[in-house]
Amino acid sequence: MNQKVLTKVDAAYIRDILAKSLDLRALNLNEVSALLAVEEGELWSEIFDSARRVKERVYGKRIVLFAPLYLSNECMNDCLYCGFRRGNREAKRKTLTVNEAVEEAVLLERRGYKRLLLVAGEHSKYAGIGYFEKIAEAIYKRTDIRILHANSAPMSVDDFRRLKASGIGVYQCFQETYHLPSYMHFHQTGTKADYAGRLGVMDRAIEAGFEDIGMGVLLGLYDWRWDVADLIAHCRRLINKYGFGPHTLSVPRLQPAQGSMADLLRYGVSDEDLKKIVAIYRLALPYVGVVVSTREPSGLRDELFSLGASQVSAGSKTSPWGYIEEGDTEQFEIGDSRSLEEVMGKIASLGLIPSLCTACYREGRSGERFRNLAEEATIKNFCHENALLSLKEYVEDCASGEIKEQLMKVLNEEVVKIRNGLSDKFKLIEAGERDIHI
Ligand code: SAM
Ligand code: SF4
Repeated sequence: MNQKVLTKVDAAYIRDILAKSLDLRALNLNEVSALLAVEEGELWSEIFDSARRVKERVYGKRIVLFAPLYLSNECMNDCLYCGFRRGNREAKRKTLTVNEAVEEAVLLERRGYKRLLLVAGEHSKYAGIGYFEKIAEAIYKRTDIRILHANSAPMSVDDFRRLKASGIGVYQCFQETYHLPSYMHFHQTGTKADYAGRLGVMDRAIEAGFEDIGMGVLLGLYDWRWDVADLIAHCRRLINKYGFGPHTLSVPRLQPAQGSMADLLRYGVSDEDLKKIVAIYRLALPYVGVVVSTREPSGLRDELFSLGASQVSAGSKTSPWGYIEEGDTEQFEIGDSRSLEEVMGKIASLGLIPSLCTACYREGRSGERFRNLAEEATIKNFCHENALLSLKEYVEDCASGEIKEQLMKVLNEEVVKIRNGLSDKFKLIEAGERDIHI
């Protein structure tokens, strides 16, 4: 995409675009291209500020936390950038048994997590649909984890139906890059070499009944401006076709990984670029959640929390069995190693509300219904109350020391702002009742 220096007229155009976003209307591709072409620093400050305001209009101050649960690092594909790839001869491979997955989920539950993202390499023998079904059933039955997401290899419509029936709330899969020559370079063998097959994965998931889907590109495989514009085009196509697009967009940025053959510098994405990407996703599709993982360093993550991120992972490990014991091959290196509690404290110190809410999917607020609630700026009323209720549970069950006091201060300050109060519900939580939500 050609860059151009903006004239004063263009700056006026950019401000019109920002006003449209603040009105919670999705941007068209010309408008997205105009944002991508901005060079002037001051205008970027306005863009960042608008992204923050759009996020607050849609979701309020809450940021939802989760952790990935890596199930298997066995993989039949050979994505050149990934530590799990088949060609990584150094890899120490492991696939969790059902009991091991439950053991890790119990450990995470004790730390306070309610939402986990199941992640696995692509392997028909080790991580097929039957395996996911058994894992989901066991975690729901034997732990207090309330919602599971899955980031697994693309499936057929029939297998997606089974995945949905097993209780997976959000199905997530990244196109990696939309640029065909780059895609073919990084994915030369295995099922992932089928570009068109991967491109159709969300249509198959939606056909199977998934209404909450997570999309993204792996930033750093090709020119990020090109891939960001294409991802937004893909989302717009889904919205036009189905009435809803992705529930979340993730911003994974290429990290060093054992055995990686990717050149991290060729299409490098700087910290400043990543901030721009989060802001552009936020503005282009105001109702969509933006997910930031622990791939990124803590200081940058803290900036992204205030800039439009609405879901973040914390305290993550990226190897199977990694929460219990480190040693098996990680998918990539982690940039932010703070615990869940530390990240919650940080979010609170930024004037935001850390949330462990899992209500929407379970209450049927998904797909088009979620989009409508978000675009009319009413979803934040649910988010706010549920964030406080889930935070209250966390404070009762898991928080300690100074961070506990900090989180209690947030609760006290916020609760007085709620019209009907929450004191009755808080008393129920103090008395031991759990999972109170609206
Ligand atoms: N195997 C499935 C797949 O490829 O879609 C799902 C799990 S894969 C472990 C999840 C995502 O991790 C990939 O889609 C890719 O974008 C990302 N990833 C792989 N290697 C990475 C790296 N070195 N740095 C950052 N993200 C990476
Ligand atoms: Fe396998 Fe996914 Fe890694 Fe590719 S990105 S090697 S498919 S785990």
